[in-house]
Amino acid sequence: MRAIFIAVGSELLDLDRVDTNSIYVARRLREKGILTDMKVAVGDHMDNLSWIVKKACQRAQLVVLSGGLGPTEDDITREAVATALKRELVFREEIVVELKERFRCRGMAMPEINARQAFVIEGAELLPNRVGTAPGQFCDAGGCKVLLLPGPPNELLPMFEAAFEKLIAPAANYHIYSRAFKLTGISESEADSRCADVYRRYRNPVTTVLASPGMIEFHFLGRSKNSDEEARRLTDELAEKVRERLKDFIFAEADVTLPEVVVAMLIERKLTLAVAESCTGGGLGNLVTSVPGSSEVFLGGVIAYANSVKAGVLGVREETLKRHGAVSEATAAEMAAGTRRLTGAAIGLAVTGIAGPEGGNPKKPVGLVHMHLSSADSEQGLRQIFSGSREMIKLRSAHYALNMVREYLNQLPAKC
Ligand code: AMP
Ligand code: MG
Repeated sequence: MRAIFIAVGSELLDLDRVDTNSIYVARRLREKGILTDMKVAVGDHMDNLSWIVKKACQRAQLVVLSGGLGPTEDDITREAVATALKRELVFREEIVVELKERFRCRGMAMPEINARQAFVIEGAELLPNRVGTAPGQFCDAGGCKVLLLPGPPNELLPMFEAAFEKLIAPAANYHIYSRAFKLTGISESEADSRCADVYRRYRNPVTTVLASPGMIEFHFLGRSKNSDEEARRLTDELAEKVRERLKDFIFAEADVTLPEVVVAMLIERKLTLAVAESCTGGGLGNLVTSVPGSSEVFLGGVIAYANSVKAGVLGVREETLKRHGAVSEATAAEMAAGTRRLTGAAIGLAVTGIAGPEGGNPKKPVGLVHMHLSSADSEQGLRQIFSGSREMIKLRSAHYALNMVREYLNQLPAKC
């Protein structure tokens, strides 16, 4: 079963309202193996809406609409769906009776306009609304089920859940199983080129690649008509092939962040960390300290933005700064050694780079970042040229630097 979600409301197109209903509905449907092929936002326009509903019913087995069930002139979903399905709208007196009773309980008379909410698409099942006045509707239109839900999320959620349980989930004919890898230390295009030839051969599972600053995610969703077990086997088969290609960059499969992984590894190995930051301006320390419990292993650091602080506080030699410049492998190495010396940490981690948008030159372009990890048994430098905005470059630098710690800890012999 495949779904299309239609968010109805002009406010979703030109005001600052965001369609959150589709995110909720698509996520719940996915849990039952029903994938959403399209989400569309449509203004309160009768012809446009009935046209898109008609098209959606030709392509999907489930069409979910939200919004436009209120009592006002711009609430046109009932009529538009009836037109699309070539069905009549039937006036149901009992709905008016119930609405009048609701208003009476609140000490009010029902406005005449609310009677519009008593029109029901011929053959539709009514979905009670315990929160607001607009009842929902469910139509089984042959090859396609159509669900009409109210726009306000607090009304949509309970109504969707009830309909989902009773009318949709029993008809869901897929078992699904999903896995995800989180990667860092590699660009999206590089990661993709390493494994695209593998995952492109599979239409099931579906592979999705998501990039955010400092991190890339590979999601795999396998489906089976037969069993959970088969969905799992299909997903595992592809995921393991991709893992083989990307294993050096995968830092987690579970829903954890890179700083969480690094802090947990430091705690496990009883090693402390200190930082020396230039272009990240404290962002690296911020990432580490965002993890609860990081105080066990994070000692602190120096934001050495100016050369005077690099030299005066961290002990970077004037000669190094003069010969190699503030953004150089040599400066990063001396910064890392300096913060280790100052704090007594087992690992010193330094970042120095050009975050832009100004300050680059042909030899040292914007985005050039040198990172360095210093410990008793290891000196490792990393040079990268990151693309993106100033913020992106800062975030990517902090993540790549943290990943150096992860890689360093990974190659340490296991503690007995
Ligand atoms: P309606 O049911 O069209 O009268 O919508 C009433 C209100 O529900 C709107 O003013 C929005 O605040 C909210 N709403 C409508 N559609 C959505 C949506 N897709 N996601 C989140 N909120 C919505
Ligand atoms: Mg509306």
